[in-house]
Amino acid sequence: MQYKLSKVVSQSAPSPIRVMFNAALNYDDVISLGIGEPDFHTPGPVCDAALKDAKAGHTHYTSSQGDPELREALVEYLNPRYGGGLDIGNMQVTVGGMGALVAIFKTICDPGDEIIVPEPYFPAYKAMIAFAGGSLAAVQTRFEDGFVFRPGEMEKAITPRTKAILLNSPNNPSGAVIPPEVLDEVARIAVERDLLIISDEVYDRVVFDGLEHDSIYNRPGMAERTLVIGSSSKTFAMTGWRLGWVFGPKELIEVMVKVATFYTSCPPSVSQRAALAAIRQPESTWQKMTDAFQHRRDMAYEALNAIDGISVNLPKGTFYIFPSLAGLTDDPLQFALDFLEQEQVVVIPGEGFGSSGKACIRMACTVSEAVLERALNKFTRFCQRRSG
Ligand code: PMP
Repeated sequence: MQYKLSKVVSQSAPSPIRVMFNAALNYDDVISLGIGEPDFHTPGPVCDAALKDAKAGHTHYTSSQGDPELREALVEYLNPRYGGGLDIGNMQVTVGGMGALVAIFKTICDPGDEIIVPEPYFPAYKAMIAFAGGSLAAVQTRFEDGFVFRPGEMEKAITPRTKAILLNSPNNPSGAVIPPEVLDEVARIAVERDLLIISDEVYDRVVFDGLEHDSIYNRPGMAERTLVIGSSSKTFAMTGWRLGWVFGPKELIEVMVKVATFYTSCPPSVSQRAALAAIRQPESTWQKMTDAFQHRRDMAYEALNAIDGISVNLPKGTFYIFPSLAGLTDDPLQFALDFLEQEQVVVIPGEGFGSSGKACIRMACTVSEAVLERALNKFTRFCQRRSG
């Protein structure tokens, strides 16, 4: 039959991650630096607590806004870092950070509305905004600025159709952290131009070198105009549980809960219990993971920096590194496919994250140190063959 598909969905570009994933299916024994998820399993005590709670009957629908016990725990967990003014009415539990993004875009977008997003960006934003009827207005960034946008350029992107500015710090794919003075500037712009801020902070706990995570939410006047997205995926190594959250002004959360109710009813009840247990684990459980990511970041940075034709910024957070191949090729997609064919390692070409990153590739340091070392050696060898 001739299927009559929705234009916006059928015309949306496949994720670059999916393209490489499909290409990798042709090879055995592939090392994947492609997938943005911790290689660590969810810690045993979290799984045990979820199983115990499932056996005790936490197997039903919860409130669409989320299990009140989890929302209470999230408030306690987040208040010290976000000014202390949150209560459970500000908090919505969602099906991953993705569920929060869907709820937000569905809540604020009418056809033709624009959401300003600095490049490089998580590719799902573009599709999700389009599915909600809006469009993504990209702000270019530069390698030499560490892929941090210039606030003046962001301000120029504002039009009468602008509904919100979306920030992602630490950033997927660049690992950049937006400096405090840039957050100050965005806060000023948001207040002056009466715009909403969507702050995707799912990598808040994966920051390096003793840096403290900083949020635009904590600037004066921002609590009433900022939605902050968090997730247990990266923070607690819980990607498969599909559990995230968003907090912000109650009036907005109330409308977003309507979207969640009609799309998903509620997040999985057992996953909510797992998140509750994760929040209660000792800090050291998570710090160990961040320390491992920092060590891998150092290994990757050092190896990439030593290759002729590659330039790279030092990531301040996340588990990604985003080297520029400008000195080696003007076709990173073909480069990534050739690298896969010759060395069986998956990396993701940068173009899918917006045009500012088109000379780059994203590598996810989500494999053990031994495997990462092998992959970096293969990468070095492959680059040396190409340049010489
Ligand atoms: N935001 C960013 C920047 C991400 O990289 C991801 C996952 N890769 C998400 C949101 C969503 O993650 P999840 O739905 O697993 O919480």
